[in-house]
Amino acid sequence: MSRLVMKFGGTSVGDMDRIRNVAAHVKREVDAGHHVAVVVSAMAGTTDNLVNLCNEADPRHDRREYDSIVAAGEQISSGLLAIALQKMGVKARSWTGWQVPIKTTSDHGSARIEEIDADNMAARMEDGEVSIIAGFQGVTAENRIATLGRGGSDTSAVAMAAALDARCDIYTDVDGVYTTDPRIAKHAHKLDRISYEEMLEMASLGAKVLQTRSVELAMVYKVPLQVRSSFDPPDNIPNVPGNNFGPGTLVCDEELIVEQQVVSGITYSRDEAKVSVRHVLDKPGISAAIFAPLSKAGVVVDMIVQNVSPDGKYANVTFTVPAKDLDRAVESLEQSKDDIEFDTLEHSSNVAKISVVGVGMRSHAGVASKMFETLAAHNINIQAISTSEIKTSVLIDEDYTELAIRSLHTAYGLDEEQE
Ligand code: ASP
Ligand code: MG
Repeated sequence: MSRLVMKFGGTSVGDMDRIRNVAAHVKREVDAGHHVAVVVSAMAGTTDNLVNLCNEADPRHDRREYDSIVAAGEQISSGLLAIALQKMGVKARSWTGWQVPIKTTSDHGSARIEEIDADNMAARMEDGEVSIIAGFQGVTAENRIATLGRGGSDTSAVAMAAALDARCDIYTDVDGVYTTDPRIAKHAHKLDRISYEEMLEMASLGAKVLQTRSVELAMVYKVPLQVRSSFDPPDNIPNVPGNNFGPGTLVCDEELIVEQQVVSGITYSRDEAKVSVRHVLDKPGISAAIFAPLSKAGVVVDMIVQNVSPDGKYANVTFTVPAKDLDRAVESLEQSKDDIEFDTLEHSSNVAKISVVGVGMRSHAGVASKMFETLAAHNINIQAISTSEIKTSVLIDEDYTELAIRSLHTAYGLDEEQE
């Protein structure tokens, strides 16, 4: 009998009717003979409210108390789902992170899971009881509640699946992973399969369906992840023997993908800001002088471009940082002005990062140049570029985000054929 971890996001458990709908999905899998554990998010909006309350109490609040407050949402949804299942005649019990226990680091607000003692959960599974585990939370070595960062219940689910040697179904409010945001490109289509690596790039480049860390974990522990919609009617999903995966998108090993496209998806992020440090001496140590204060301030730098003046003496250094960290970045550079010796600092948040992602880039030439040509044909200027083995990202004026996405989607042949 196979083990299954089912994860339900905030919208899926948004009210009592939806929780009953979730219970019906769980019951379907129990009736099909699976050993099931469930991980839930807080009801939609709850975590935001709790975060706001913390900030209202004191914007410089103690992070340990923040964690104990914001973790409360999942305690409620897990208990409600346990009651709904019991009412349907399914044996169920709710568990908070510390009760499992899910042991984490002490980085409050962005803790990482270190270890899960899954023996108790496994025994209950074998016994036919469904464990409903509060996502997003764990317990530190100091015995305090810690949370895993926003969106962290995806990571709780994958970690539980790894610890239980189970597969993992992530139920959300979309029916899978798309080639790009269907709200922007109406020809976007759902992918049946996507490799861990591509999903990892897509998640970290702005596709919001899974928390990045959860994909990292799934890749390391080889947990098959199925992303699917909780709004599919629970009784309407065929449970075909030999095809356990049902509808949605399977995130899996590259080898399991038969017809691999060169480019699988296009993502965008408007959460970037651009900083230019103008007129610095082009000499050894200058990059270190610029980026050391940023790293000390905890600002993560992404794209970097350097232009050198024709006489080779001076350079302009341009880079991107998360928009939320822009003030901190500028402040730390201003403070180091005497070391860096720059003329001026310029910055703007009116930029967007557009990325094309695909494992096919490893073996196919011309993917990046097609991107540049397509943008040029639409008169979109590229302000910075960064690449990895399987992605190319460009920074453009935010006003052209939609145009860039749509034209790239067409250029890479991703538009769904219309009947
Ligand atoms: N409830 C948490 C959040 O809103 C965790 C999650 O939903 O995954 O970020
Ligand atoms: Mg989520």
